[in-house]
Amino acid sequence: MSAAASDTLRVPLDALDEQVRAALRSLGLGEAHVQAMARTIVAGQRDACPAHGIYRVLTCAHTVRAGKVDLQAEPLVEADGSAVVRVDARYAFSPLAFERGLPALVDAVRRHGVGALAIRHCFHYSALWPEIEAIVAHGLAALAVTPSHAWVAPAGGHKPVFGTNPIAFGWPRPGPYPLVFDFATSAIARGDLELHRRAGTPLPPDCGVDAQGQPSTDPIAVASGAMRTFGGHKGSALALMVELLGGALIGDWTSRESLAFDAGSGAAPCHGELILAFDPAHLGGADAAEGARRAEAMFDAITAQGARLPSQRRFDARERSLREGATVPAALYREVLAMAGA
Ligand code: NDP
Repeated sequence: MSAAASDTLRVPLDALDEQVRAALRSLGLGEAHVQAMARTIVAGQRDACPAHGIYRVLTCAHTVRAGKVDLQAEPLVEADGSAVVRVDARYAFSPLAFERGLPALVDAVRRHGVGALAIRHCFHYSALWPEIEAIVAHGLAALAVTPSHAWVAPAGGHKPVFGTNPIAFGWPRPGPYPLVFDFATSAIARGDLELHRRAGTPLPPDCGVDAQGQPSTDPIAVASGAMRTFGGHKGSALALMVELLGGALIGDWTSRESLAFDAGSGAAPCHGELILAFDPAHLGGADAAEGARRAEAMFDAITAQGARLPSQRRFDARERSLREGATVPAALYREVLAMAGA
């Protein structure tokens, strides 16, 4: 471990992984959950996504203390040879449910050209890109949506209805890294709002309103008022779509029911997730290779003018973390070490 700046450390990934696992074990989580959750948390820190890195150890601990999450439940996978795979997470954290459902999803997509993985009854805290990358590693394109807690007002309103409702997409590419984007449909992700609250720093403008419906940059005021969607009515419509696809369509809760179930405990949202995957070889048929070539030509047209592809920042951070260790806020790491008993 080395000091990268006065308040940050560079921690080798294997050491970080060991401490995150120990901290998660200290919460009483079953070993399969510990392994699956640590993979997402260490990946978040490795890729310089602070709201989904080791900070999540603390929020998962809070969720465990709230007492509703099942620490041991083995997900139930239902795959009947159709294009639809259902996984009941049984009120445990989501990463293990995804990992258990992935092989059946890939199988379904190979068979039908398209496939859907509907995860239900999961406590969800993670970014979606680790799941998208895991699917795209099989040469598939993928799209994922999930609701959260009702913290976000619709365009034109000021009372929370939607969650921060992320949408993530991935496309396979030659070389080590795919094309991936993954963003909240709220103007700022909730994890980032919490990090502003912890740091006592203002939010960027236009992220939310206070309880009286007035624009505010105070993270505490916005937390008790409402966040805004990005992109006005367009982001609002996307957030609505996420509620329908990742909630109503798969027979699980929307963000409103998730927040009601939470009953003020401040635990991670509890709901479902819908993941769709597409096999370019199947859909493109004889023209699949040409489709892939056109996609690469389009990516070149983007980068040739100095614009960057989504996830490039993350992949650059990953390369650096693999070489030098992940950048970790020292105070936060001390909290994780204390939980790990180190
Ligand atoms: P960001 O706004 O940070 O990034 C959104 C996407 O845009 C990323 O793929 C990012 O790539 C890309 N991007 C950013 N800047 C540029 C640029 N200049 N040119 C091209 N691409 C760019 O994401 P959010 O803050 O909205 O969301 C953060 C995370 O929060 C997501 O991973 C999401 O899944 C997660 N989340 C999870 C929720 C849950 O309930 N589980 C709820 C809401 C959000 P790069 O990373 O390389 O910068």
